[in-house]
Amino acid sequence: MNVVLIRHTYDPDDLAALAARVCYSSQSVNEIDMDGDQKEKLIKRVVKSGHHSVLEHVSFTYALEGLSRVATHQLVRHRLASYSQQSHRYTTIKENSFVIPPSITENKEALAVYKDALKKSMELYSRLIDMGIKKEDARFVIPQGVSSNIVVTMNARELLHFFTLRCCIRAQWEIRDASVEMLRLAKDKAPVIFENAGPACVRGRCPEEKPCDNIPQIREFFKTL
Ligand SMILES: Cc1cc2nc3c(=O)[nH]c(=O)nc-3n(C[C@H](O)[C@H](O)[C@H](O)COP(=O)(O)OP(=O)(O)OC[C@H]3O[C@@H](n4cnc5c(N)ncnc54)[C@H](O)[C@@H]3O)c2cc1C
Repeated sequence: MNVVLIRHTYDPDDLAALAARVCYSSQSVNEIDMDGDQKEKLIKRVVKSGHHSVLEHVSFTYALEGLSRVATHQLVRHRLASYSQQSHRYTTIKENSFVIPPSITENKEALAVYKDALKKSMELYSRLIDMGIKKEDARFVIPQGVSSNIVVTMNARELLHFFTLRCCIRAQWEIRDASVEMLRLAKDKAPVIFENAGPACVRGRCPEEKPCDNIPQIREFFKTL
């Protein structure tokens, strides 16, 4: 999997601070003057207080490459985002276009079973195409592990929500790996907005009925991300 930050709003922390300042100021936007410290304090206040609409002015566009359909299906459940996904109606699925979960890679016997299933389904896919069946129908025999590329745009408010759900240890490993990398890239460009981003336990109590045993390590990990 490859996660690329393609574009983002210019100076995201600065824009969020400006939008927040407008809410509390009678000055024209061109007259507003804040130093770095004031901007940082304001964004932190806004993020902590839940006044998150000001974060909607900031957006990030990523390309996620080589993600399985399992993971992209979970990704597109997030409705406050825009997506463009590689189509298996128009592109041909190749033998090497599959994600292999680490649990299977690490188990020799399971890996043989998995590879056998992929080989068989690819044979059936090719046979159907040779019979004149369109790719859009032939792909029905392809397993969910097939990978694709997807471009996603989310604003910073949705990203904070997305990171809360998908950076959590309870999220499936592939979408979690993708979201942790997305957070790392976003934090590099907007360190104040995303300072405390990540699973809920990074900011306080874990909301799960049975919290995991790794909360101190998880907090440490996201602090240093
Ligand atoms: C660990 C985990 C396990 C999951 N398991 C399952 C599962 O077994 N089955 C399953 O179907 N899904 C499952 N999901 C997906 C989950 O139910 C959500 O569909 C997905 O995480 C998208 O999140 P969301 O709905 O909060 O927010 P988004 O779509 O990202 O929207 C953000 C927020 O906007 C608001 N919002 C958006 N649309 C509406 C609306 N129509 N009405 C009111 N408010 C809205 C909500 O406050 C929402 O939280 C799982 C998710 C996780 C993280």
